[in-house]
Amino acid sequence: MLSFSFKNRIAFNYILSSSILIAIVFLSIFTIVKYSVNQHINEEIQEELYKHLDDVSTDSNDTYLIQVDQWRAREHNSISVNPVFVEFYDNNKQLIDKSPNLKNSNVELLENSKNNKFSDTKLNGIPIRQIQTPIINKEKVVGYLVVAMSLEDFEIVQILKNILLISYPLILILLFLIARFFAGKSIKPVSTIIDTSSQITKDNLKTRIPLPVNKDELYVLSQNINNLLDRVENAIEREKQFTSDASHELRTPLAVMKGTMEVLIRKPRDQKEYEEKINFCITEVDRLNHMVDQLLLLARFENQKQNIKNETIYLNAIILDNLTRFSSKIENKKLKVNTEFSEDFYIQSDNYLVSIVISNLISNAIKYSNKNGEININLVNNNNQISFSIADKGIGISPVDIDKIFNSFYRSDVTNHAEIKGTGLGLSIVKRLCDLLKLEIAVESKLNQGTTFILSFPLAKLK
Ligand code: ADP
Repeated sequence: MLSFSFKNRIAFNYILSSSILIAIVFLSIFTIVKYSVNQHINEEIQEELYKHLDDVSTDSNDTYLIQVDQWRAREHNSISVNPVFVEFYDNNKQLIDKSPNLKNSNVELLENSKNNKFSDTKLNGIPIRQIQTPIINKEKVVGYLVVAMSLEDFEIVQILKNILLISYPLILILLFLIARFFAGKSIKPVSTIIDTSSQITKDNLKTRIPLPVNKDELYVLSQNINNLLDRVENAIEREKQFTSDASHELRTPLAVMKGTMEVLIRKPRDQKEYEEKINFCITEVDRLNHMVDQLLLLARFENQKQNIKNETIYLNAIILDNLTRFSSKIENKKLKVNTEFSEDFYIQSDNYLVSIVISNLISNAIKYSNKNGEININLVNNNNQISFSIADKGIGISPVDIDKIFNSFYRSDVTNHAEIKGTGLGLSIVKRLCDLLKLEIAVESKLNQGTTFILSFPLAKLK
């Protein structure tokens, strides 16, 4: 198929509609002019016919006489733009008299069926229109009057036809070129978008499409592409950051362990020192293990969408199960955990994934609580939503950090609380799962006073 540029297509569509419109206008002009010229000639011939019928009188022998003098005089005096040819015939169709302008030529008398009708014939090769009428006396045909007029006036119709036929394609070509020019001008921003977007590559994501001056659809398109580029750039930036953070977080404990062991084998040590360093390495290996597990979990969620289960979950039980899992840690820190479930809550969701979210929130509440602290867990029906809240009275989060805690590897206040170990991945997993399960998560916190995480489950899923 012929490939048409967008510019040419706009111009072509414009021309298509214009050509129909112009054709209708031209055809109307032509028809009106042709009709009025035709009408005009017919009226003139008719008028001449009546005039010359007046020049006819009948004598007592029922033969008709032409008042030749009157006729000639009038012929002489009247001004006629178009020559009128007149002929009188007797009832035997023999020519009696004719206008002098006919000289040696004759307008042919046609058969009777053509009486009182306009007929287009030729006189010496020149097109003429003629009409003939029988001269009647006492209901008897006594002769014939023929009036003819040259159709030279009609030439104007032919000229008009030629002008219209020639100007039609010329006008269309001109209109096409004009339309193409303006279409080119109006889609110029599209060319800019094409040029700019072809410059944008994986390594050059900074370039943006210049916004057109007019705030039209192309402005919105350019703006949307720029916003999309912003999002892509941010996503790639986050991806890069995640990879570099991940490699850093994985290498650091490995380097620490390597260093510890290198120092350890440099000279013989006592049993206690060996135990101490090996235990340190075991803790680091555990932490590494935990981090790798969490990284794998995060990677899995990327393609999780299709695999989300939709099962009935007894929310109260999940919370209690997870608390049981952490009972030794709760005991070690001598924490007081209060649970208040206003009723039995069931939801439709993925049991395993919801359990990961709740377990992370409980684990953090325990981890960031001070010794002998208190944790309050509530499960209530709040404004047609099931609201799960977990509030600790621990170290809290500063307002500066609170927006970043869901970012991967982000750990606030690490230096002040070096004793609290973590990977900075837990909340990032929680956030991704909440997005995946369409749960709302909110956090309120005051530094050194405590933190509350609130999870909202839609009540529609409540059984
Ligand atoms: P991790 O706990 O392994 O460091 P998280 O992603 O679970 O990683 O948490 C990110 C950061 O958010 C933590 O480093 C901590 O500073 C802060 N945080 C999370 N939960 C709490 C909490 N309950 N109390 C105080 N700070 C918290």
